[in-house]
Amino acid sequence: MLMTQIITDKKLMRALSKEQIDFFVTGAADGSIPDYQLAALLMAIRLNGMSERELDDLTTAIARSGYMADLSAINGICVDKHSTGGVGDTTTLVLVPLVAACGVPVCKLSGRGLAHTGGTVDKMESIPGMRVEMSPNEMIAQVKRIGCAVVGQSPDMTPADKTLYALRDVTATVDSLPLIASSIMSKKLASGAEGIVLDVKTGSGAIVPDLEGSIELAKTMVSIGIRAGRKMIALVTGMSQPLGTHIGNALEVKEAVDILSGRASGDLKTVALMLGGYMLMTADAAPDPETAEKILTEALESGRGLRKFKEMIAAQGGDPGICDDTSLLPSAPCIQTFPCRAKGYAGRMDAEQLGLCAMALGAGRRHKEDRIDPAVGFVLHARVGDALQEGDPLFTVHASDTRTLHAAAETLYTLVPILPEHVQQARLIDAIVDINGVRLCDALGFK
Ligand code: URA
Ligand code: CA
Repeated sequence: MLMTQIITDKKLMRALSKEQIDFFVTGAADGSIPDYQLAALLMAIRLNGMSERELDDLTTAIARSGYMADLSAINGICVDKHSTGGVGDTTTLVLVPLVAACGVPVCKLSGRGLAHTGGTVDKMESIPGMRVEMSPNEMIAQVKRIGCAVVGQSPDMTPADKTLYALRDVTATVDSLPLIASSIMSKKLASGAEGIVLDVKTGSGAIVPDLEGSIELAKTMVSIGIRAGRKMIALVTGMSQPLGTHIGNALEVKEAVDILSGRASGDLKTVALMLGGYMLMTADAAPDPETAEKILTEALESGRGLRKFKEMIAAQGGDPGICDDTSLLPSAPCIQTFPCRAKGYAGRMDAEQLGLCAMALGAGRRHKEDRIDPAVGFVLHARVGDALQEGDPLFTVHASDTRTLHAAAETLYTLVPILPEHVQQARLIDAIVDINGVRLCDALGFK
């Protein structure tokens, strides 16, 4: 088969056959097709799109390019949750132990952070001793024993996606709906979960910032999953300000522990409970959102969720003592709280810029190889729309030295504006997409 013919067909808007798709995906995985030909094809796909059938063939081919997990040894319907990436987005650490405490097995494969977004694997590694690299058999054994595991994606899973994603990153072809949908869903199909709950972010910090595009992405991924025989639901949720108040790896673990201990609440807890509720429903462990929320709230308030989190940390070699005493987490040498400089209301925030500020402190990576500092980051003491007095604490910076501390503080003063007029907070949940179609959340009466 000729790669030039495949590029020509897509250039002229002709649909690619399954054989053509298998050919270039295999070539991407084994390195037999040069980057320049793959890059030209990616641009043709970015410009001319793909049909549903091509999209299914592409997703399946990428999933099959490497190791496919078999979770059939786990009793019950194993569910996974995937977020398209955000800032202060720690729902995984809250909902995995809660859902597992309700008897639903969770195999969570997670990634590392890149650019302004955080990654669950990095957050987990800020817990002293914690191990996130695990063989598939070890992971399955742990889920059978305690009901959950959060581990890094196995290096031999979806090798074609690694090649294609790296090329997209440097050829301005990340923002393609079929390429995003097939990239994410191939990994979900390879990870073996029977039920998949997607959290598609929308807003300034999201991969697709506009709501219409985010809903389209959710619809596309849900239908790929359904056609592949998985139970699917997607929530489209706001990322126009960071979801949690804590940004930075150890800081985000602390916030998750605070929520599981009943000491903290807010948007992160609300979204975690909602996603967790849909995971219970996907696993047939709750009939409707109201019952699911009641079951999860009971697991939280009884302390069963926190105990499950301790069990999981211990099973993966980490120190469960951080759940009783969060000061055992890595702590930065320079910590300072900065006050509000005027009376007013917290204005709109830019989640992406806030994520980049955390990255500049050392909490995130500019490049895949960069090392991160688990201790640094910041805590925001105001949400969009909050009324503030001059002198109220506005944010606390955790830095490795005084120079980066003050540089971050100056940036944060511009990113957390105080305005004379009240600003409406953006919606937390914008839409729910499942086999029945799209429901916009206004119609459901959500705030
Ligand atoms: N996340 C992925 O894994 N792939 C994409 O293409 C975009 C976000
Ligand atoms: Ca099963």
